[in-house]
Amino acid sequence: MTDLENSMADRIDRIRSTLPDRVRLIAVSKTVSSDRIREAYAAGIRDFGESRIPESLHKQEELKDLTDITWHFIGHLQSNKAKKAIASFGWIHSVDSLKLAQQLNELAQSLETKPKICLQVKIAPDPQKFGWSVPELLHDLPILDRCDRLDIQGLMSIAPLGLNSEETYELFRQTAELADKIKQQDWSNLQMRHLSMGMSADYPLAIQAGATLIRLGTTLFGQRHP
Ligand SMILES: *Cc1c(COP(=O)(O)O)cnc(C)c1O
Repeated sequence: MTDLENSMADRIDRIRSTLPDRVRLIAVSKTVSSDRIREAYAAGIRDFGESRIPESLHKQEELKDLTDITWHFIGHLQSNKAKKAIASFGWIHSVDSLKLAQQLNELAQSLETKPKICLQVKIAPDPQKFGWSVPELLHDLPILDRCDRLDIQGLMSIAPLGLNSEETYELFRQTAELADKIKQQDWSNLQMRHLSMGMSADYPLAIQAGATLIRLGTTLFGQRHP
């Protein structure tokens, strides 16, 4: 192994040793080659996050001997790729509209699967990002609760760029609070077990606020070169 490879394993070890037990580390491998994903696998990673379907399917094919990987889709999902996403990903974190949720629910029924999903919510307005605003999400809950082919695991959020740490923490805290509020409403299909939040720049804050799924790219694999 080269020094670079060693240092990836070291980074992975170091980060994992700091994580509470409840936190699952997802290595965001978008733009990262299959060989590098293999190295992360060798260092113990079993969860990988991808944001583009064609790129990911190509790598999944190259890595199909690694049968215990769980693939997480974390990007904006276009409706014409929804079927492939359901067929190839164990989790979809970025379900960002009622229309997409309903489409996935129908597809899951016809494919006889039950994908784990998160509902992507925008706590602060962010024109750069997809997702429900809080009032929209609360409004759509009764319909989402009836999407019973979806295994709805919790909420996902992404902090907008340019917030300081207090503001970022506050945003994650509000996401956790929203999940609690939904949990207390006793829906039959809306489980609020997981909070998918925290990226390389802000994951310690997300963990402090209750994250259970963190999505780290740069800090594991280095700067991306798209
Ligand atoms: C790219 C991406 C990440 C990882 O970002 P890093 O800053 O490289 O850790 C996490 N979540 C989503 C939704 C992403 O698109």
